[in-house]
Amino acid sequence: MGTALKILLVEDSAIDRHEVGKYLTEWGLDYAVVDNGTEAVKLFESPHPPNLVLLDWLLPGIDGIDVCREIRKLGKNGPYTYTVMLTAKSRKQDLLMAMEAGADDYLAKPVDPSELRARILAGKRILELQQSLRFAATHDFLTDLLNRAEILSVLEKEWSRSRREKKPATVILADIDHFKSINDSFGHAAGDDVLKEVAARLKSTLRPYDAVGRYGGEEFLLVLPACDLVIGRRRADEIRHLICEEPISTPAGKASVTISMGVTVTAFNHELSITEILHQADMALYEAKKLGRNRVEFKYGSVSRAGLIHARS
Ligand code: GH3
Ligand code: MG
Ligand code: MG
Ligand code: MG
Repeated sequence: MGTALKILLVEDSAIDRHEVGKYLTEWGLDYAVVDNGTEAVKLFESPHPPNLVLLDWLLPGIDGIDVCREIRKLGKNGPYTYTVMLTAKSRKQDLLMAMEAGADDYLAKPVDPSELRARILAGKRILELQQSLRFAATHDFLTDLLNRAEILSVLEKEWSRSRREKKPATVILADIDHFKSINDSFGHAAGDDVLKEVAARLKSTLRPYDAVGRYGGEEFLLVLPACDLVIGRRRADEIRHLICEEPISTPAGKASVTISMGVTVTAFNHELSITEILHQADMALYEAKKLGRNRVEFKYGSVSRAGLIHARS
């Protein structure tokens, strides 16, 4: 898993900017430059912030230490930013202050190229480690899809957005039909292969802003933003087709796989909680199973004062 370095150099001295920039260019590294702290902080507020920053300590306006604190505040829940302070200061208590503000490392000025190179390599390694830990914490081990907690957090975000913008999002609960008998006839390992292939097929049909996660053993949850019930049902049916159209090859033989789907939409359900929306998708899925499997059913409705869901299908 490669991490692309997006380096930002924050340096007010033109000479130092030129010097460090020259090394980075020589090593073929991509970087941006700003000459003050305010501009630097702005870049960290953008949707695609840098992930490694070479940060001068003394800067006009916001100084390096405060930029550092700001980076840590802004990046609390996001990807990590590796921060190297560039400083002419050598007193130990100053370095401690930089570390306390959130710096990962420091480099004495004038910058020595091999030391700079070493710091960047260490940074890259930390970023890669952080990225793989983050991936492991948010993805399902077998299928590489989002895991249950993560797809539920996507649903929560889309649910809020849907309420705010009054735009529908389609929610699909999909469950492989008679998966137990696939395991029984082909073995558990082949069952795993089938799960992986179904996951790959699900992923291949998605638009960049759609999301799919492994909700349970052989159950998947799909969230399709900006998708009303008409389009949502059509897309669910296309996905269903894609799963059953070609048997799945496993070392134990070819398995014909079908999937049942329960579809609901958030637009009709502004008053429904996430639990209730999931419950509706689940009821629709139950209906699809009851009506013979390999099919798509939908449900939407509202909650009465007593808290009962009146579903219409
Ligand atoms: P239905 O059409 O009603 O959904 O029938 P089903 O057989 O798919 O449903 P059931 O809930 O009876 O069985 C689900 C099976 O999925 C049982 C379980 O062993 C299997 N399963 C769950 N997780 C995994 C997994 O990670 N790998 C494999 N190979 N099997 C799994
Ligand atoms: Mg300076
Ligand atoms: Mg199931
Ligand atoms: Mg099943």
